[in-house]
Amino acid sequence: MAAGKSRGRATRLIHAGQVKGGRTVGPAVERGSTVILSSAAALYDEGSVTYGRAGLGVQNLLAEALSDLEGAHHVSLFPSGLAALTGAMLAVLKTGDEVLITDAVYKPTRRFCAHVLTRFGVTTRYFDPTTSPDALIAMAGPATRMIVLESPGSLSFEMQDVPAIAGLARARGLLTLMDNTWAAGFWFKPLAHGVDLSVQALTKYVGGHSDVFMGSVATADPVVGALLDQAIWDFGWSVSPDDAYQMLRGLRTLPVRLERHYASGLAVAGWVRDQPQVAEVLYPALPGARDHALWKRDYAGAAGLFSIVLRPVSTAAVHALLDALSVFRLGYSWGGFESLAINGDPQFSVRERAPSFAGPMVRLSVGLEDPEDLIADLARGLAAVAAA
Ligand SMILES: *Cc1c(COP(=O)(O)O)cnc(C)c1O
Repeated sequence: MAAGKSRGRATRLIHAGQVKGGRTVGPAVERGSTVILSSAAALYDEGSVTYGRAGLGVQNLLAEALSDLEGAHHVSLFPSGLAALTGAMLAVLKTGDEVLITDAVYKPTRRFCAHVLTRFGVTTRYFDPTTSPDALIAMAGPATRMIVLESPGSLSFEMQDVPAIAGLARARGLLTLMDNTWAAGFWFKPLAHGVDLSVQALTKYVGGHSDVFMGSVATADPVVGALLDQAIWDFGWSVSPDDAYQMLRGLRTLPVRLERHYASGLAVAGWVRDQPQVAEVLYPALPGARDHALWKRDYAGAAGLFSIVLRPVSTAAVHALLDALSVFRLGYSWGGFESLAINGDPQFSVRERAPSFAGPMVRLSVGLEDPEDLIADLARGLAAVAAA
């Protein structure tokens, strides 16, 4: 649909991928493996869709809407966020290549590199997420092919200077891939800052209801787009039209949900920072927090996901905090309407250099509940820390 580029972000997302002249505001869901062809000639026509695995109407509309969101030439859909990350790497890497990856990367990405990429002769080196762009590029050797960024890291929230890294990498002929799930393709646009592959777990904020898996890879480069399509076809990845419908529906309310996550995130983070049991809040959007200047320069807003560092206490006290919560539920993942909490320290053991914080760390995903209730819940949790 010819939505003018001059329209606002919310209007664009609400109209993206809508079918002109349809009877309902959402598209019809075509469920099909088989596609009926109209003639014998069409059976072997390379230019027409002859099988449903590559996606039919709804998947195409979702990809179109995500292209508008990401400012992309091409968007590929994958069955999960992790599949999008691993699929993007498999689409462009070959034996002998080396990948430089932020040490703060989403943990399963690291597992894939260790278990799968190594078997195909692709090596991985991790860089400290606080490495300067110049020092990072200086790490690249003749075999280096790609740099994988995640900013902020979704547990410890270190930010990278993505525009600087992407610019230097491109000048050296290195590809950059960014896991941009935290910004949901909305608050930060990696492609506009020179990143080659912008990946997000749609499972999180785009889906928004913690009940559907999907991932996307966006690129501004038609050559990279063709490689992604080829990999999807060769590997046999597919996403269901019903899931694609849910993601398209999620996109309609993404801006209004994200505004609320951002506002509530700031309210809760600002309150919690001032509590005596808390040493630090790791939330780049919070004035005074680490990397706030970088966030302010590049981001239009923030996710509701951040971490709090407690003053030194026992693991039992951290468990007491989590077990005292009732509005925040305990669970992995984030980006849904419901608030969630986990303790993060057990995950730092996989890192080459674990971040050194003043005390134990708890990650919060601030959902869409009334922020006063979230604050009251945390007050109960922090009281349990004091009592433990
Ligand atoms: C959840 C998550 C993923 C993976 O998404 P799935 O759909 O669960 O596979 C990737 N990156 C980040 C930062 C995530 O939080």
